[in-house]
Amino acid sequence: MNAVSDFTRYTRPELGRIFRALNLDVTYRAGQGDHLTRESPAGAGHPETGDQVLDLVGGAGSSLFGHNHPALLEVARRCLDEQIPFNAQASVRSGAAELAQRLSAMVGATTGSSYVVTLGSTGADAVEAAVKHATVEHRRRLAALQEDVELSLRRVRRDGIADVPCAGGPAAGRTCAELLGEALDLIAEMRRTDPLFVSLRNAFHGKTTSAGTLTHGANVPEDLHVPGPRQVRLHDWTPQEVVHALDCERVPIYSVTVDAAGVPRSAVRYLSPVAACFVEPIQGEAGVHEVPAETLAALRELADRHEAALVFDEIQCGMGRTGTFLASENSGVVADYYLFSKSLGGGLAKISALLVAENRYVAEFGRHHTSTFADDDFSSRIATAALDLYLTYRNRIIEVGTLLRTRLAETAARWPDAIVEVRGRGLLLGIEFALPQPESSLLREVFDSESLGYLIAGRLLHAHQIRVMPTLSAPTTVRIQPSALLEPADVDRIAAAFEDVAGLLSKGDYATLLNHLTVPAVSAWRPRQHVPLPRRDRPVHGVRRADVPRVAFLANIDVPSKVSSFAPELAQWSDEQCAAALDRMWGELEPFEVARQRITSDGGEVELIMVAAPFTAAQAVAALRSGHGAWLRRTVLDAVDLGVSLGAGTIGLGGHTSIVTSAARDVVEDDVKVTSGNSLTAACAYDLLRLQLAVSDAGERRVGLVGGIGNIGAVMAELIAPHCDSLVLVGRPGSARRLKTVADRLGHLADVSIAEDLEVLRDCPIVVSATNAADPVILPNHLAGDRKVLVCDLAVPGDVHPAVESLPNVTLVSGGRIQLPGGQTPLFPGISLPPGIVYSCMAETILLGLEPGTPSPSYGGLTVAGVLAARDLAVRHGFHPARIVSDDVSVRPWIVDRSTDIIEEHIG
Ligand code: PMP
Repeated sequence: MNAVSDFTRYTRPELGRIFRALNLDVTYRAGQGDHLTRESPAGAGHPETGDQVLDLVGGAGSSLFGHNHPALLEVARRCLDEQIPFNAQASVRSGAAELAQRLSAMVGATTGSSYVVTLGSTGADAVEAAVKHATVEHRRRLAALQEDVELSLRRVRRDGIADVPCAGGPAAGRTCAELLGEALDLIAEMRRTDPLFVSLRNAFHGKTTSAGTLTHGANVPEDLHVPGPRQVRLHDWTPQEVVHALDCERVPIYSVTVDAAGVPRSAVRYLSPVAACFVEPIQGEAGVHEVPAETLAALRELADRHEAALVFDEIQCGMGRTGTFLASENSGVVADYYLFSKSLGGGLAKISALLVAENRYVAEFGRHHTSTFADDDFSSRIATAALDLYLTYRNRIIEVGTLLRTRLAETAARWPDAIVEVRGRGLLLGIEFALPQPESSLLREVFDSESLGYLIAGRLLHAHQIRVMPTLSAPTTVRIQPSALLEPADVDRIAAAFEDVAGLLSKGDYATLLNHLTVPAVSAWRPRQHVPLPRRDRPVHGVRRADVPRVAFLANIDVPSKVSSFAPELAQWSDEQCAAALDRMWGELEPFEVARQRITSDGGEVELIMVAAPFTAAQAVAALRSGHGAWLRRTVLDAVDLGVSLGAGTIGLGGHTSIVTSAARDVVEDDVKVTSGNSLTAACAYDLLRLQLAVSDAGERRVGLVGGIGNIGAVMAELIAPHCDSLVLVGRPGSARRLKTVADRLGHLADVSIAEDLEVLRDCPIVVSATNAADPVILPNHLAGDRKVLVCDLAVPGDVHPAVESLPNVTLVSGGRIQLPGGQTPLFPGISLPPGIVYSCMAETILLGLEPGTPSPSYGGLTVAGVLAARDLAVRHGFHPARIVSDDVSVRPWIVDRSTDIIEEHIG
């Protein structure tokens, strides 16, 4: 069994993928106190801590007493030994009874009330129960009110005063029957209205349907959100705003009282659809933010104004985690409902509790709100023991929590650039990090607000054997929820680890901070599942299209060693490290803008924007081979979208971005031009080869063309055939049939043959190569000999092995290069060409920007006519073909001799 692959395939595909990317795909096999034992390959443990990891995630806050606390294990064992019935529904559950009584007493010690407890299994379970109970309570209250008003109406009728106007009160002058009849109508309407729930900005109450509605954001995609009950979110926490936030929902109704003298008087009261107001006294998932006591008090007032239940969700912050049993204790505000879970089960049992003040409890609720696993003895007994543990550890929680917070605050003070703030109380702390601003756009793409906390978690895990996670809704905040067992020595370790991370961030030492990403992944890459996003309304970011035409040139990273040119901050990484990191990041990065520059010609000016498609040539090839072409295409389409949103009117597809989109055909646009730029690449090579063929002796005009079935290769064959004596089309084994189709079409122009073995190149004084291979295909042994050979390599990355350059008989010319007018040199990372020289495909993109009315000559399969049109475009703007041999650059005017240009139609 491979746990990582099975986890990724069978349980959590997206999480498995992300864990692999972040090097967080770690398994733990044991836990004790604050430590987890990491399952790691033999000998792979840390030199000092071995396979022990200090766990500050603490079961997402459920391990207040550490992992497997002996006292809790003892209870669990006893339950097993005594063979207590786990499931004895429809009987008196003694464990549940004891736990409920204890919970009621512990909360009551602060609030002075008594509670009825509804047990469940998870936090969200308790939230659902609260939503349901509040709804029932609200409905019953309205029904009771209706009953009262009906009684009043009957009474005034009986007493003969129904038509007597009220003598006093806010509705003086109106008759009793009129007021009460109207009240009955309004109550009936309110009973038909869905109840309304209130929660706060950034609230987290869980992920089930109702709880998810109360939860705000939590980084859940819009379409994963299933609508639950009606809710209102309070964004402004100022007490005055909170108290009056829902005044518009209050509906006045008039009641009638009859005084001792038999005179009716009116009084006003309000109906409201608000059933409950939910609040976490300390917002855990939102980045550990304490809700001010004044806001809690205002919520109390708000709830009272609407006769709604005030619900304190203490699932994360309660149960003693902050030193007091209720985190809300110090505020002095008393709620009607309290929710607990997480540490209530001591990290061992899945249990939650909803406490409803006894005087509000709807007795029938407990009869009908049932759940198979609720009230079980096993969980209840463990939870009761956990309550005892809280009493044992309460002082320690405060001591160690205070020490930890003090130490972390000292670190924060030392690195104000890196740490924004340390927040929280007791053993619920949050450290908010500032989003770093690296120089390079690649690293800015890596360090977004979603990933920062996870990247920090990776560094802490791999360099310090400390486990943390960011909070769910605010992932730049790293949360620390250790257990009450935390030792001062652990505090030292934590402080040192955060010191390290904050220092690295502050100094911009990203190579060290991200070093853990350079460890090769153990499981295979899987692409992210496509999320359909209608593109019709894609935004155009701050663009004035009228200014200078913009073009976007898309390129992938060709080889991993280019990483340091995209991100100079990572220069210290070896090629292997770069390759491993790119493998992990594969599919995680969004396309990003690399640089932009203006280019001018006699005919005008364009702004050229370089957009990186985040994959390497090797990844593109591997993805195509493993059937993930759709993923590649979509990644390129995302890059196209970025280009369009940046205002580009022409999109050029460089490197593998055109290959994976079937020579641009898969990029379907109706208001921007799309080009693979390949016509101009072919035009350059054509020009260069014609020159060479013109000076070659008869018998020397034999050309070997590698990649003849590719887009560029096929058109090159058509262009060159009329100029040479013989042409041999060379392809990979198995390509003969397709090569033959090309050869048959050209047979009347030259002696055209085919081969599946590169050995034939030995007989060719001229070699042209244009394959899509990620690795070199032409090796020294294919060319070595006495015969002089000119090799024109059109492929990026190159088809020719670097060792070929040292063969004395070989002249290696880079094809597909162009000089911009006036020697303009765009400075784009990852592209290392001599000054003034650009790739022809990029040049074609620029040219199409300079001539907005000229259609793209390179969309889909190339044609001879298109190649010649691209050449003419270049001629018009003073872009010249460049012949580069080693470092020697020579630039000439184009050969424009239409008499020898063979136009497609002539081939037939
Ligand atoms: N409420 C709060 C305050 C929480 O922090 C959480 C869990 N993070 C929940 C509710 C939901 O609990 P569960 O994940 O057990 O459903």
